[in-house]
Amino acid sequence: MTSITNHMPTAELQALDAAHHMHPFTDGAALARKGARIITRAEGVTLTDSEGQQILDAMAGLWCVNVGYGRDSLAEAAARQIRELPYYNTFFQTSHVPAIALAEKLAGMAPGDLNHVFYASGGSDANDTNIRLVRHYWAAKGKPEKKVIISRHNAYHGSTMGGASLGGMKGMHAQGGLPIPDIAHIGQPHWYAEGGDMTPGEFGLACARELEAKIAELGEGRVAAFIAEPIQGAGGVIIPPATYWPEIQRICDAHEILLIADEVICGFGRTGAMFGSQTYAIHPDIMTVAKGLSSGYIPIGASIVSDEVANTVAAAGEFTHGYTYSGHPVACAVALENLRIIEDENLVDNVANGTGPYLREKWEQLADHPLVGDAQIAGFMGALALTPDKSARAPFAADTGTVGLICRNHSFGGNLIMRHVGDRMIIAPPLILSKPDVDVLIGRAVRALDLTLAEIREKGLYR
Ligand code: PMP
Repeated sequence: MTSITNHMPTAELQALDAAHHMHPFTDGAALARKGARIITRAEGVTLTDSEGQQILDAMAGLWCVNVGYGRDSLAEAAARQIRELPYYNTFFQTSHVPAIALAEKLAGMAPGDLNHVFYASGGSDANDTNIRLVRHYWAAKGKPEKKVIISRHNAYHGSTMGGASLGGMKGMHAQGGLPIPDIAHIGQPHWYAEGGDMTPGEFGLACARELEAKIAELGEGRVAAFIAEPIQGAGGVIIPPATYWPEIQRICDAHEILLIADEVICGFGRTGAMFGSQTYAIHPDIMTVAKGLSSGYIPIGASIVSDEVANTVAAAGEFTHGYTYSGHPVACAVALENLRIIEDENLVDNVANGTGPYLREKWEQLADHPLVGDAQIAGFMGALALTPDKSARAPFAADTGTVGLICRNHSFGGNLIMRHVGDRMIIAPPLILSKPDVDVLIGRAVRALDLTLAEIREKGLYR
């Protein structure tokens, strides 16, 4: 058996990777031709690859490494817990200290009466729990017909059958016969792409009212819940107009519809408050959390549930649902230490009042670049809409994502991890980002934009 280590040549690692490793959300054949970039270590906000390049990770991994890389205390928390109790389940009337302590902690952190925690291993399966939970809740209330969950086009809620069904990604629904029954979708509050001649405020209201129209169409007696990310992440960092969320909350309240806030990305500081629900002053019945809960150091997710929903479900006999790793003690121990870091180091305040305002100022200035039609940022979630014609908010004369991919490649080539969603460039850096880090980030972003502009001019795409 070969032992595969960080010291092997990149090409050998790439060949073994292509031979045996199936990557998520990847065109396998295309990757095999190109070879994966191999990340070997990381510290703070910086990744190191197998060629020794130092890369600024402006995506915090997959929007998750909130406390940054290289935290010894998280390694110690895991090691300590593995030595003491590496695993025990929470089925069959059993519990353990890490699961109890984290549930108590999350109940204290979460807004309002969100006081009950059902554990999962990530965001997708937590959203699967939510589907079963809200349907079971309404059945327990004597309304078993309230089953439909309304979501939004271009939402992302995970990649399991349930999560991908809730999500509004056409490409995902096209594979494997999704969505599952009793999931409906309405429009997204994406003013830049879809707002036409409306003001953002008018458009936000119009989008929210699509929910009311959908409830009327389906019948209030059939609708269990509405699910949405406070700010859509994977859809391209779509920051809703200020009019959107208050109207959504009003509609959910008026029609007895549970509100599920998918906080998998927004939770734990990313929007400049502990939760996106606080940024938008909404009071969900359930919040989905994952990612920043452990800063990605270990898999864990959860549904944080209101008194009303949890108590109703508890009174209805057995909820026939759970995962082997629900409340995994090592994951809970790491999450607790991670939350301690977020609080003790005031990372949410760094987003709101420290580095955040500086990042906002610099990011918004990117709108002056000839390629950028719109530069939006909320907390540590930013997007640049690339366009050949700013005033018309026009798309390029090429398939959507062609220019975005070119820009992503220049960004990676210049040692900045920025992601593209279609022709939007997005960032979601670790919450420890400093002002000097911002200068590096913006400098590399400008270089990527300049190189992209030069390349697409040459290719005749900038018209
Ligand atoms: N919900 C949202 C809002 C997400 O962004 C994601 C992951 N990007 C998920 C759910 C799914 O989480 P996971 O990949 O941990 O299953």
